[in-house]
Amino acid sequence: MSKNLTCDVLVVGAGLTGASLACALRNHGLRIAVIEARPPVAAVADWDARVYALSPSSQRFLDELGVWEKLDPERLEAVRDMRIFGDDGAASLGFSAYQTAVDRLATIVESGAVQRALWEAMREARDIELICPETAREFLWGRDACEIHLESGGMIRTKLVVGADGMHSAVRMAAGMEARIEPAGQKGVVANFSCASPHFGTAFQWFREDGVLAWLPLPGRRFSMVWSTDEKHATELLQCGADLLCERVALAGRGTLGELSLLTAPAAFPLAWLSVRNRVRERLALIGDAGHVVHPLSGQGVNLGFGDARELAVLLRGAAERRADPGELLRLRKFERSRAEAILAMRLATKGLKELFADRSVAAAKMRNFGLNLIDRATVIKSLLARHAMD
Ligand SMILES: Cc1cc2nc3c(=O)[nH]c(=O)nc-3n(C[C@H](O)[C@H](O)[C@H](O)COP(=O)(O)OP(=O)(O)OC[C@H]3O[C@@H](n4cnc5c(N)ncnc54)[C@H](O)[C@@H]3O)c2cc1C
Repeated sequence: MSKNLTCDVLVVGAGLTGASLACALRNHGLRIAVIEARPPVAAVADWDARVYALSPSSQRFLDELGVWEKLDPERLEAVRDMRIFGDDGAASLGFSAYQTAVDRLATIVESGAVQRALWEAMREARDIELICPETAREFLWGRDACEIHLESGGMIRTKLVVGADGMHSAVRMAAGMEARIEPAGQKGVVANFSCASPHFGTAFQWFREDGVLAWLPLPGRRFSMVWSTDEKHATELLQCGADLLCERVALAGRGTLGELSLLTAPAAFPLAWLSVRNRVRERLALIGDAGHVVHPLSGQGVNLGFGDARELAVLLRGAAERRADPGELLRLRKFERSRAEAILAMRLATKGLKELFADRSVAAAKMRNFGLNLIDRATVIKSLLARHAMD
């Protein structure tokens, strides 16, 4: 974009979090611009190797945006049960939609499909200027507005910049906002498989000596795997070849779904935690992975990002109705406070679980496996946990 543009809200990054925020701001009298470095990947006949377990509240959010209806129902899978196993071969914890009195615990969606649906909604919107491929070269923070000079030569003047540009956020760095990235020393190996036995909408998770193995159900006799494991083991899994990988994954999952065949080539993502001291300042808010990254063992990264987008959109729409300045610090602080508890709770839960299962001492092993069995028998606590995960 070589021309200059003036807007109320500029969203940098149109991954799931940024694109959902832009959609949630439509039709409220705000001028919205979105810049994104890369367009979404094209649809593939095969299954996307990156899938997410969306909580019912994320599903409701996408529904409110008119995006859920754009997804092919044949490619969605409801999670009705979840089984979590400890590392002593016996301890387990189960959640079921039936016992929690809900229709489903989560819905498995393909990352690319949700992103394409959000982009379609952004392109249909008259008040969203979607600029792609584009990146920012320089941010000049003024009292009344921020000026962003773009790589292509254009300039955008905006009241509010929203950094939705992921873990290595250029917006966060340009604003000099302190962030702590702690590498988990692990990679998430993802791949999809077909399986001989039906999964009946069950998600499985095994806490193992070599990491955490998760199987998320896909439609038909298929599932998607995320194996969070140390880097050496991840490299072995990537390089061992399809047949051996199927054998290893089936064995690690105790043959639960019978013989496996590989549907997508395995890929690996480095895992880390990211925390920031502040998620807002005058004329700037960080949402999604730009402001927090949690371990995928909770399967909550995108859900947290959608929570941010929904909350910020409510405040900004309120400001638009009152013709107030969307970049005002007091309002942005309200957004920051409203999200603090959910983000901290998820961070502590994922760190605590990872550390508890990484401790190889006999005492720690007894405690964690005893704990899983105990929670499994405590119906009230279990139902509270299940409901918390669905928020
Ligand atoms: C192995 C693995 C499994 C996971 N499984 C789950 C799961 O089951 N459930 C779940 O909820 N979460 C899961 N997550 C977490 C989830 O992937 C992230 O939390 C989520 O993708 C974050 O979305 P985002 O939009 O905030 O950031 P991103 O997806 O990182 O998007 C950032 C966007 O900004 C763009 N961008 C970057 N820099 C610039 C720039 N300078 N200018 C313009 N654009 C820019 C990028 O191109 C990108 O499109 C998993 C993560 C991993 C690693």
